[in-house]
Amino acid sequence: MGVSAPPTVAYLDLQAAHLELAAELEEASRRVLGGGSLVLGPEVEAFEREFARFVGARHCVGLASGLDALTLTLEAWEIGPGDEVLVPSCTFVATWLAVARVGAHPVPVEPDPATGNIDPTAVGAALTDRTRAVVPVHLHGLPADVDAIREGLGDHDALILEDAAQAHGASLRGRPVGSLGDAAAWSFYPAKNLGALGDGGAVTTDDDALAARLRSLRNYGLEGPFRHERRGSNSRLDEVQAAFLRVKLTRLEEWNERRRDVARAYLSGLRDLDVDLPHDPPDADHAWHVFAIGADHRDGVRRGLEERGIGTHCHYPVPPHLQGAFRGLGLGPGALPRAERIAGRTLSLPMGPHMSDGDVERVGAAVREVLR
Ligand SMILES: *Cc1c(COP(=O)(O)O)cnc(C)c1O
Repeated sequence: MGVSAPPTVAYLDLQAAHLELAAELEEASRRVLGGGSLVLGPEVEAFEREFARFVGARHCVGLASGLDALTLTLEAWEIGPGDEVLVPSCTFVATWLAVARVGAHPVPVEPDPATGNIDPTAVGAALTDRTRAVVPVHLHGLPADVDAIREGLGDHDALILEDAAQAHGASLRGRPVGSLGDAAAWSFYPAKNLGALGDGGAVTTDDDALAARLRSLRNYGLEGPFRHERRGSNSRLDEVQAAFLRVKLTRLEEWNERRRDVARAYLSGLRDLDVDLPHDPPDADHAWHVFAIGADHRDGVRRGLEERGIGTHCHYPVPPHLQGAFRGLGLGPGALPRAERIAGRTLSLPMGPHMSDGDVERVGAAVREVLR
């Protein structure tokens, strides 16, 4: 009696974003309903133009998902069986799946423990004469050092495909993520910093030929009326999702700014605790898709936070090489110790542009209490 339920802070509050934008999203859907075109129409074209400009790339090609953006780019580069592609050992499984789906061999590169991103100094040692590409991931929104990776490639002609699915609006030394490599793959899964109200993806690139090939591959390999030059896919961005994305793109910078405020408050509030805090380098603008700490007894900390009404997530408790999907590679426990250490300790705190200062304080206080 008289004891109120503990305040709850959701891991991610998508509803708040959609409520803020309700009128504009309704207007966008009305535009599509009245327009008569539901796939590859004017909304997709406009979004592609607007997102290409945002990223500072010549082209944007809208696709059905981030996984397709990765896969179709590798396919457009004619990477396949017998080829090797360098991937981070510490990433979401989709990065590896894309390589496997084109029949190529994913070669893991361990992270720099300080950043969690692919260690550029380890790239050179992983190269062979079969290496065709490297796929750095901007994990949690922290830009991977694509310039240092390029240096690590030396005069090897491997292509760089940025996996930018977690880093909309991030930048490295003043240049936006997505314009750093030869191409970049994006996801607009609802929970991403720029999310649709369903699935979506895109590739940005300066390469005219790659963009043209992707436009063909996403649409049954079509090259002209009834001419199918490639064994393409059906991987198109819907008009209604493009219309929603155009609305949400107008808020991306403002919402990322708020994420940065939340991250700064966490970083200073948790500074003196016995946890690993995420890296926030001065020469990069982090997009703070995820704010992940590293802790001993992670599962206990997670339970303690849940008991106090704090939602958490785990990105990711099992690295790709220990997933059943990649059992065939023969990389057992202990094969990639840096990725495994991060996987065992990582815990993501609530993060999003609609968190109040009170929410941030409640999370900080709960983390302190649990760790004490
Ligand atoms: C979300 C994500 C993907 C896949 O995107 P989907 O749109 O869900 O297919 C790929 N790579 C990373 C790093 C991601 O976080």
